[in-house]
Amino acid sequence: MNFSPAKWRRHFPLLAAHHELHYLDNAATGQTCAAALNAATAFDTQSRANVLRGTYRLAEQADAAYENARRQAAAYLNAAGSEEVVFTAGTTASINLVAHAFGEGLHAGDEVVLSLAEHHSNFVPWQMLRERRGVVLRLLPLTADGRIDLSRLGETLTPRCKLAAVTHASNVTGAVTGLAPIVAAARAVGARVLIDGAQAVQHGPVDVAALGADFYAFSGHKAFGPTGVGVLWGRGEALAALPPFLGGGGMIGRVTVEETTYAPPPRRFEAGTPPIAQAIGLGAALDWLRAQPWADMNAHTARLAQRLIDGLAVLRGLTFLGPRDLKERLPIVSFNLEGIHPHDACQVLDEYGVAVRGGHHCAQPLMDFFGVQGAVRASIAPYNDDADIDALLAGLQDAVRKLK
Ligand code: PLP
Repeated sequence: MNFSPAKWRRHFPLLAAHHELHYLDNAATGQTCAAALNAATAFDTQSRANVLRGTYRLAEQADAAYENARRQAAAYLNAAGSEEVVFTAGTTASINLVAHAFGEGLHAGDEVVLSLAEHHSNFVPWQMLRERRGVVLRLLPLTADGRIDLSRLGETLTPRCKLAAVTHASNVTGAVTGLAPIVAAARAVGARVLIDGAQAVQHGPVDVAALGADFYAFSGHKAFGPTGVGVLWGRGEALAALPPFLGGGGMIGRVTVEETTYAPPPRRFEAGTPPIAQAIGLGAALDWLRAQPWADMNAHTARLAQRLIDGLAVLRGLTFLGPRDLKERLPIVSFNLEGIHPHDACQVLDEYGVAVRGGHHCAQPLMDFFGVQGAVRASIAPYNDDADIDALLAGLQDAVRKLK
């Protein structure tokens, strides 16, 4: 294998400065890469001006950098063009944008299909839409190990479906969704498809052309970029069919006292001053990531996940949430130790310099499905190594000794 996690780690200033830290909370946020930090700082120190408004040279430089970031995001997603990339505040904002703009055209009785594995970001906006428009939410069920059960697709996604909104990969189990049948079933009834890509983007470039969906949402901070920025990709024709969500400067064609016409996408959906430096930082992160050896990096993180799963198997009272086999699965491992609250386990782990998350992971319907209140979650990125996994396992053994 031609990949060195130690070398990769050097691209992440926080990790380079904290040798003792075993950061395994990457599903919550990835660390920011130097490419993103440098690009955002270069904007603020060399070409900061508002975008899409000024005619002086500095403003033109800012425009060019912002639009370049749009192209970089489009390239990471294999989008047909940069006009398909809307900068938002993150996955949550992207999904809410679609829930409002697309939801505007829905009527009582229209159906929206979700799965039981969704993050609250892809649940609550649709429940709110149900309150506003009377749409019906239908849930794709899960197999016992927490994968979306595609054998029940036909009975869930019916001709009344107008939109299917599903996660690309679960932030709890790491299970990657079999999207092709969902997209095909939605297409067959003329429904749109939104994919929540929050977790998937951290594990390599995405091919929205191959996925065949209409919308793809993700956050910059999960893709080793800045916080406060994200993307809503929309197929050109799908975005063009949406009314605006937020109104304000930058999204208009012409405003008169009587009425307003709107700019075409993507600007129609970027009311107000966008997160300019953050978008530029995200573009740089994605550009850097696109050139990385993903096959080797994913083999590396899968090997670490296997090391973790093997190490966990010997602990008494352990239950996994999600599939144990590493096929079609991201290196996200959630589990419980009988009689130990996830928060208590995390506190002991912190003493070992291990940063992992314990709780419901903003996926309470999924926790209910598993019959638990929460879980400990370790999520692995390419900069992690054997020492991170071994520290986690040592800390857990200590937690079992102390807390049981
Ligand atoms: N969807 C999934 C699958 C996630 O894991 C997350 C964050 O953890 C989100 C959506 C929400 O992302 P953000 O809080 O960046 O908007």
